[in-house]
Amino acid sequence: MSDGHLTILYRGPLASCDYDCAYCPFAKRRDDPARLREDRAALERFTEWVAAQDHPVSVLFTPWGEGLVRSWYRRALVRLSHLPNVRRAAIQTNLSGRTEWTAEADLATLALWATYHPSQVTHDRFLGKCRDLAERGVRFSVGVVGLPEHLAPARALRAGLPPEVYLWVNAAEGRSYTDDEAAEWTAIDPLFGYSRHPHPSAGRPCRTGESVISVAGDGTVRRCHFVPGVLGNLYDGTFRAALRPRPCPAAACDCHIGYVHLESLPLYDVFAGGILERIPHGW
Ligand code: SF4
Ligand code: SF4
Repeated sequence: MSDGHLTILYRGPLASCDYDCAYCPFAKRRDDPARLREDRAALERFTEWVAAQDHPVSVLFTPWGEGLVRSWYRRALVRLSHLPNVRRAAIQTNLSGRTEWTAEADLATLALWATYHPSQVTHDRFLGKCRDLAERGVRFSVGVVGLPEHLAPARALRAGLPPEVYLWVNAAEGRSYTDDEAAEWTAIDPLFGYSRHPHPSAGRPCRTGESVISVAGDGTVRRCHFVPGVLGNLYDGTFRAALRPRPCPAAACDCHIGYVHLESLPLYDVFAGGILERIPHGW
């Protein structure tokens, strides 16, 4: 973008979660105190870096595991949300934690990407969290993984959510959907079609590596979370010389946080104003 706006997907060393989802490698993993200290220091360093920039920044925290049960993620989001150069401060979360902290944030900038894991939390508890966020005026999307056992809970959640809250459905990794199955999920999420199949991406233009980057705790910059090549480091500024339009080197892109940036898809329009937290424009 001409104003130097940079979108950053940040993922630090944290790799632990309070939930135990069968489909997740981070289920019930624990981080030792040294790793938690490292994660906290890395996040604080990153937040300071953002505060020192003179161009607009949007941030999505995409931790392995759950960040919001850690005080430093809540603090970082509050701080980022108040920075004049930050347009969006968002995080992916299972919403297991408390929500009071959001009262300290600038709600025009804060956003949550909340995932419902029906094997880990009751309908009433999760829906209660969503209603609480809505009452607080917090901007958020909610979603589920499109597994057969999630269909009934997803329908019930959709029925209980305020209509202004968007519920997305992610195609389960490696799963193919018959047209009938896809229609059932599309009845819950009208945009399920974008998730149903991985998007062929090889050679196609993707904004990552130009106006979007992935940053690790040590500042290592890659174009996205899925392409391992390193562009430089955030903290010594070496990544900047590498930012330019570049085609995707991978065969396919199957995750919203990646393919939303594909220029061959219309998703910057579909999600205008809510690209990182996955809220469709005008929902
Ligand atoms: S809540 Fe998310 S990170 Fe935690 S176990 Fe489930 S899928 Fe994994
Ligand atoms: S299309 Fe996906 S995998 Fe390819 S560069 Fe973009 S985000 Fe990365």
